Order: sequence, then C-alpha cells, then structure tokens
Amino acid sequence: MASFAALPLSGPMLDNLRALDYKFMTDIQAASIPLIIDGWDVLAEAKTGSGKTAAFGIGLLHNMDLSRYRVQSLIVCPTRELAVQVTDELRRLARFQHNLKLVTATGGVPQYKQEHSLSHQAHIVVGTPGRLLALLEKGSLSLKEVKSVVLDEADRMLEMGFVDQIKAIMKFAPAKKQTLFFSATFPKQVKEFALSILKNPQEVKVESRHDTSVIKQEFFSIHPSKRGAAVVEILAKYNPESTIVFCNTKDACRAVEQSLNNRGVHALALHGDLDQKVRGEVLVRFANKSSRVLVATDVAARGLDIDELSCVINCDLPKDAETYVHRIGRTGRAGKEGMAFSLVPEEDEFLVHDISRTQNTEFFVNDPEFTYRENHPELTPPMITLSINGGRKQKVSAGDILGALTAGGRVPGTAIGKIDRQDFLTFVAVERAYAEAAFERLENAPIKGMKFLARFHD
Ligand code: ADP
Ligand code: MG
Repeated sequence: MASFAALPLSGPMLDNLRALDYKFMTDIQAASIPLIIDGWDVLAEAKTGSGKTAAFGIGLLHNMDLSRYRVQSLIVCPTRELAVQVTDELRRLARFQHNLKLVTATGGVPQYKQEHSLSHQAHIVVGTPGRLLALLEKGSLSLKEVKSVVLDEADRMLEMGFVDQIKAIMKFAPAKKQTLFFSATFPKQVKEFALSILKNPQEVKVESRHDTSVIKQEFFSIHPSKRGAAVVEILAKYNPESTIVFCNTKDACRAVEQSLNNRGVHALALHGDLDQKVRGEVLVRFANKSSRVLVATDVAARGLDIDELSCVINCDLPKDAETYVHRIGRTGRAGKEGMAFSLVPEEDEFLVHDISRTQNTEFFVNDPEFTYRENHPELTPPMITLSINGGRKQKVSAGDILGALTAGGRVPGTAIGKIDRQDFLTFVAVERAYAEAAFERLENAPIKGMKFLARFHD
C-alpha cells in the first residue's frame, strides 16, 4: 500500500490527508492521481467505494491556481445527491485552502441562487447535466478557462440518457483541456462514448472486488407474500444497527416499506420516483440513525457512500451474480463481519447457483425458523430527526444548534447526534427520549438572534 507522501503534494494537503485519517492511497488513487497531476486524459474503472472522489479531487486541487477566480474544474454527476456528496468530499479535501470557492449546480434548487453564487466566481463547479447546461446556455456559467472536466459515474449518466446533454456541455469547454472519465463498469456503449470525447487517454482499471469471506450469507426459502414479515423477523433476530433492503422495482420498494411500517418497524424507501428534496432527507435520516432500515432499488442505492452498514437483505435476488456481490459488498467493510440475507422464492433458486459459482462457495436455500411475532419494540431506531428552517445561508452553525438544545439543561449534549447543515435547512438527530424537549428548545431558544420554525421528520 502506498502512502500519499509518495506523491508531489503540498505540505498542507498531506497534513490534511493525515488529519482525515487517509493513511494509504486506495488502488484507484495510486493508479490515477499521478496521471491526473501530469495532465493526462484518464479513463478509470473502479467499483463504488473505491475512493474515486478523492482520486480526481486531490488531482484537481493540486493543479488548481487559487489566485485565479475562474472556473478551472467542472465535475458532472448523475444525481443531485451524488453532486452533494462530491462537493462535501472536495470541501473536506480542501479544508486548508480557505479561499477555494466551490459551487454546486443541480436541479431541485432554484436556479437564481446558483446564478448568484456563480456571479461571485468559483474555482470548481459540481453539477448535474440538465442544470449545468441551462446555466451555460444562459451565460451564467463560463467554461472558457476550464482546465479539467470530470465525468463521474459516467455509466450511470449514460443509463439515465444524458449523452446529448454531456456532449453539449463539452462544447462550451476549450478544446485544450483534461478530461477524466470515471465509471464503475465499461460496457461497449460507455467505452465508445468515452473514446469519442477523450484524447489519448490513459486507461486505469482496478479490480477491487470486495472480500466476501467476511460476510455471513444466508438464503431463505420465502414465498413472496411473506416477504415483509420475513424481513422483520430477520431484523428482530440479528438486530443490525443499519440495514439496506434491496428490491428489484420501485413498486416492490414501496410495498416492502409499507409492510415494515405496518408492522411497526421504522423503514424509509429510496427509489427513483422521489423528488430530490425527499431523497436528500431520507439519506440524512438513515445516516443519522433515525431509521435503521432503508428499502432501495439498485439504481437509487448506487454510489451512495453509507459507512458501516451492518446488514443487507435481498427481498428480490438480482438477476445477475455481479449485482449480488455489489449489493452485499456494502456490508462487512473495514474488517467487520457483515451480514447478507436473501429471500428466495422457488422460481429464483437457480440464481443461487450462479451466486455460488462466482464465489467458489456452495450456498443452499434453507427454510427459515421464524416465529412471526406481532410486536418488535427493540427495533425502534435510537434517534429522531428534527429540522429548523435555517442553515448555512443564515450562518447557523452546528455549535449554535448544540448551544440552543443544551441551554436550559433538559437536553444533554450526549443525546445529540449528527447535525447536517444545508443552505436553508439544518437537520439534527436527537435521542428519541428527548424529542419533545429538543423540539421545544429549537422553537424557543434564539439562534444567531433569530427564531426558527422546528419540525419533526418521523
Ligand atoms: P467511490 O466514488 O469510488 O464510490 P468515494 O469517493 O465515495 O468512493 O469514497 C468512499 C469512502 O472512502 C469515502 O467515505 C471516502 O471519504 C473514503 N476514502 C477515500 N479515500 C480514502 C483513503 N485513501 N483512505 C481512507 N478512506 C478513504
Ligand atoms: Mg463516487
């Protein structure tokens, strides 16, 4: 494993990576950062969770001239939440560069706000294709001085039909620039698209397959009508802190979410029909432990960086073994044992043979030994999410929120969890026992001299 110190990075950058506890480069970082720093076009293939953001992020930040307030890097992402995740990771990587200006330009947010931010100039813009193109066509965003363009999760952008928009965006950038193409897979049409826009690209591919040996895998024979009940009993038996339940379709997601909620188990669905605002809120609530169960489709869960997932449950088996490995690879990271359970109706048993073959292990489908129970109080999530209608733009800080909550002494600091600030909204997770007291504090304690409206998200 190579240390970041092997790269020609600045002292403050190396110090910050140490502070972030990034001790070694991931494989994709070791393979691509030197090429990016040298100015090559890069075609990179690496799985979700392999550290692609820092790979291009460190390269871009290294090549940036901060004294020039012009857009020097453009990063195109398929969805708003991925754009937000990339922006957050770039901010972390650039913590020591106080004058760096980053703008996120995605749909789901009023365009005039982004136009306003852009009018004050930015070094890096991260966005989704539709909104970027709208800003370019209106002249609110200029790429005349762009040095590099990153297409993140390019395969997914193609799947979502963004080819023409991406081509149109590229026309606004100068011919002489660096293009970085990141993708988890390279089917033929993705590769062709890449080669049509990259110049003399250096190809980098890392086979960072997840080590499935640290994941406990079980397959249960379950009739589809019993799926919701079976998921609840698995959760009750193993009591995992956080679980993603995968379904193959949006309809199945909705049905399973309903079925869990009807059984008193807090669950949130994540699928393509939700608007961006709701998706963002769902992810915040899952990550801050206000819900321990996320019911998702593959597409919705793709690229999400959810740390330390304890358990994966496949309500439907995916049609190919590759997707199965990808799903369960979200658990059992960082040396911890993960759990993966699959509910298998009879007609899908053949899929288990494929799964066995790809892992060189023979798996069997067993009858579960569940007793279906009525109540599952132990499955209540530990936290609840509250929000106030003020955020970064009102200069509300995490410290302000902590101060407001603990003033008066009814809510101890230890009961307060993650605080997620957005532009005009802040979410805070609080232990359930303190929900009412926390709500009362948020409504009544002034924050930055202002009163905000508080809301429960449950
Ligand atoms: P990808 O885009 O390949 O799916 P991400 O860029 O989202 O992956 O990174 C996944 C996680 O790994 C993030 O939480 C990130 O902060 C972390 N990470 C990235 N690089 C390193 C590193 N060198 N050491 C430790 N953690 C890292
Ligand atoms: Mg990524």
